[in-house]
Formats: sequence, structure tokens, C-alpha cells
Amino acid sequence: MKVILLGPPGVGKGTQAKQLVEYFKIPHISTGDMLREIVKEESPVGLKVREIMNRGDLVPDDLVTEIVRLRLKKADALSGFILDGYPRTNVQAKSLDEILNDSPLNGAIYLDASQQTLIQRLSGRRVCKKCGANFHITNMPPKSSGICDKCGGELFQRSDDQVETIKKRLNVYLRQTVSLIDYYQSRNKLIKLNADEPASVVYNTLIDILGKWR
Ligand code: AMP
Repeated sequence: MKVILLGPPGVGKGTQAKQLVEYFKIPHISTGDMLREIVKEESPVGLKVREIMNRGDLVPDDLVTEIVRLRLKKADALSGFILDGYPRTNVQAKSLDEILNDSPLNGAIYLDASQQTLIQRLSGRRVCKKCGANFHITNMPPKSSGICDKCGGELFQRSDDQVETIKKRLNVYLRQTVSLIDYYQSRNKLIKLNADEPASVVYNTLIDILGKWR
């Protein structure tokens, strides 16, 4: 099953993807996570990427596409994956079609939610430094404040989850990413879901849809 999750930052793509891959036993490929790993290396490329991400802008298409191309070649991704955060531009969508070539996507799931929901979700998000698990200070609080339930790691707020950067990311999304909805709709690949609903409701709907593609 080859699936992409589309939608604005904060809509819950990462949260849903992390649960879906446990259920379907396929890899979760998140360009945001892969870029954050590159940033940790503090190489010249990493420093440049960090600056772009902290501004809330998009990293150049060529760089992200190369990262995705290499990742999709790995053995664990050959029979299926959930791609989260890529593509984000029409150029990336075309590149992805080329990369997948004779084994195309089953579909693009578009999660949509109101601006108010997105800002509330992003500004309250906390992430585990060690295992990357996501929490939310009110919607999904950890059992013990600031500590990951899964591995005991320390929780932190992503530097691009500050309100001003969130607004910038939402603008970038509207300017550069929203056109992907037409891209996949015109190819009969788009399924739209209302992600203002609680995460558990969205999850159950996703299990039904993806289950048919297994
Ligand atoms: P995310 O974790 O998906 O919210 O991504 C965090 C940041 O990583 C974005 O705001 C971008 O700066 C960068 N990023 C992630 N995926 C892409 C992509 N496909 N194209 C360009 N930049 C990306």
C-alpha cells in the first residue's frame, strides 16, 4: 500500500501516520523527521536547512526529493509506505510520480481542519527528544508533565511550533501546497477527511480506507 497524507501543518498527519504504520506494519516516511535528523548533524547543509525550517519556509525541492528517492529505495519501503509531509509542491508531486513509476500511489488522503484547530494543535504540541512520540498539553497530555509515556524521554516544543512561525507555515501551505489537492483530485487519487473530528474518529476512518488497499 502506497499512501500519502496531505494537509496543513498541525492537522495530525504525523500522529495518524505513527499509529497507522504500527497497525499496517509498513514504514512511516516523514520528510520533516528526516530533515530534523539532518539538522542534528550540524553539517553545512544541516545549518542551512535549520535556518529555512526555523523561518517556516520550505526546503528546496531538489534536496527533499533526493532524500525521499533514497529512502524509497530501501528494502522496507518497496512494498508500501505512508508518506507524510511530501510532496509539498507540484514539482515534488511530479518527481514522486517519476520515482514510483510503474508502482503508483493507491491514494492521497487529504486531512482538512479549521485554522483555529491547527493553531491550537501546533502551539500545544510537545515531542519526545528520544523517540519522537507526539503529545499535546491538553488534547493528549503525557501521564507525567514533560516526560514521554513511551520511553521516559524529555518532551520539548519544536522551534517552528511558536505562534509566529506557525502562522508563517500556514501561509506557506496555502501558497505552495494547496494546489496539490487539485493535482491528486484530477488524477482520481484524492480522498478528503474532516480532521476537526477527534483523532480517534479520523483514525478509525483511515483504518477502513487503507484496509481496502492492503
Ligand atoms: P513537518 O514536520 O512536516 O511539519 O515539516 C517541518 C518543516 O520541514 C517544514 O516547515 C519545512 O521547512 C520542512 N519540510 C518538510 N517536508 C518538506 C517538503 N516536502 N518540502 C520542503 N520542505 C519540507
